[in-house]
Amino acid sequence: MKKIKYYYNTHTLRYEKLVTPFRVKLLRIFGFISAALVTSALIIWAYTNFFPSALDKESELKYEIVRDNYNTLAAKTKTLQQQMAELEKRDNEVYRSIFEANPLSDSARTKSIEKKKEIAKINLIKNDDLGDEIAKTLDNITARVAYQFESYNGIEKLIRNQETKIASIPAIQPVSNKQLTRIASGFGMRIHPIYGIAKMHSGIDFTAPRGTPIYATGDGVVTTAGGGTGTGNHVIINHGYGYETEYMHMVRVKAGAGQRVKRGEVIGWVGSTGASTAPHLHYEVHINGNAVDPVYFFFNDLNAEQYDRVLKIAATGSAKSFD
Ligand SMILES: [Zn+2]
Repeated sequence: MKKIKYYYNTHTLRYEKLVTPFRVKLLRIFGFISAALVTSALIIWAYTNFFPSALDKESELKYEIVRDNYNTLAAKTKTLQQQMAELEKRDNEVYRSIFEANPLSDSARTKSIEKKKEIAKINLIKNDDLGDEIAKTLDNITARVAYQFESYNGIEKLIRNQETKIASIPAIQPVSNKQLTRIASGFGMRIHPIYGIAKMHSGIDFTAPRGTPIYATGDGVVTTAGGGTGTGNHVIINHGYGYETEYMHMVRVKAGAGQRVKRGEVIGWVGSTGASTAPHLHYEVHINGNAVDPVYFFFNDLNAEQYDRVLKIAATGSAKSFD
């Protein structure tokens, strides 16, 4: 309820109602509105200047997340790049040298990268420097991976060729020799058992009972299989890559000329046919037509210690060969 105020009028000497003139009322209202407006303006000004708006805050948060993601991506691409460099190094230093291929030069890799750059276009995140940097790194890695892939394809081919070569080269003893007691005479100058004079012995003699199986020492094609005056019943295998092996004095030949044989396949049996004094296998290895010491080709079925013993036996073995 509105309070009614009275005042004492000295002119009329009476108490009279106090009436606020309309002008004064208006002034008061105007003053109040002005004050309110100024305060609001001050608050808005302060708020916009000293506090970020809700929209600003949201985009700032988003930017922070994006920047975090970029940093993670950048770290990941850096790791990838390091791993790629490690792969390339291994490719050059290990794989390619094992298979006697020349290492790929870094300039060849870079050239390939320049070429690939035109093809591989990563435009998705190129709007700022950070994205640009990652896009460039990814370009680089993509190109390097593609180039490395080509290199591995080449190496794979080399491995396949090498596998055939490794299977072809004579690499085992032609008769079972677990106790290493069968080598009777090694490669080199020996007294000939029949002529009694020093003569070049161009193979190794393995003593073994008549009928002991004789194995092909590497994959190849039988070029000769049959009898002969000095050699007796014998087999010659062409292994390719310049390698040939000969097996002499067999009691019986199993392989036939033109036959393809695998390492370890039985090609005949030990005997004493031809110029021979007792049952034994005379075994020769030829490289490009020259007889070499077969002892260097027994590495596949001997461990290091056994191989060492075989080398000694072949060197000091009986001065007389069975021929
Ligand atoms: Zn011999």
